[in-house]
Amino acid sequence: MKEIIKQIEMRLSFFGYSKYKYLLPVVIVHPQFYFSSPAHKGRFKHAVDIAVPDPKEKRTVILSPIDGTIEALVMGNTKWGSTSEFRKYMNYVHIRIDNESHEFVELVHIDTYVDERGVKHPLRIGDKVKMGQPIAIAALNGWITADENKKPDSHVHMLVGEWLNQEHTDFRSLKIRWR
Ligand SMILES: [Zn+2]
Repeated sequence: MKEIIKQIEMRLSFFGYSKYKYLLPVVIVHPQFYFSSPAHKGRFKHAVDIAVPDPKEKRTVILSPIDGTIEALVMGNTKWGSTSEFRKYMNYVHIRIDNESHEFVELVHIDTYVDERGVKHPLRIGDKVKMGQPIAIAALNGWITADENKKPDSHVHMLVGEWLNQEHTDFRSLKIRWR
């Protein structure tokens, strides 16, 4: 049985699909995906942008898409713009999946989770997170395009990746299998 599961996993990876199934990180009745981002090239090809309301107008809670451990994070940036030089201002969280050495997930354009009462719940590197747990809110930071009225194409960028080397410097994006 274990052997069969392993073979299926290898096949999913061969066809570029994620080994795990992920929870959509936002609770939105009719989620909309942007597929035309200029940022999704090369190794970022299968990243997805999930449209969220403009964070200046409405708070959107970001849920952990999987069980794992916070391996890297940047929060607190508030600069954003529609050209690639704004990429350095992006906030993100990188989640290492429990008992997994190849696949990982990243969420971008977020900030520290603030609950309904306005209390902040900052994440720290090494924190364990559970699928469905609020971990952040959607926010404007980094490279985000805007329409002709300067209204941001606000979205949460999600990437599931597979490390291609031991040093974890090279990866490829995977097609996300959703729960
Ligand atoms: Zn994106």
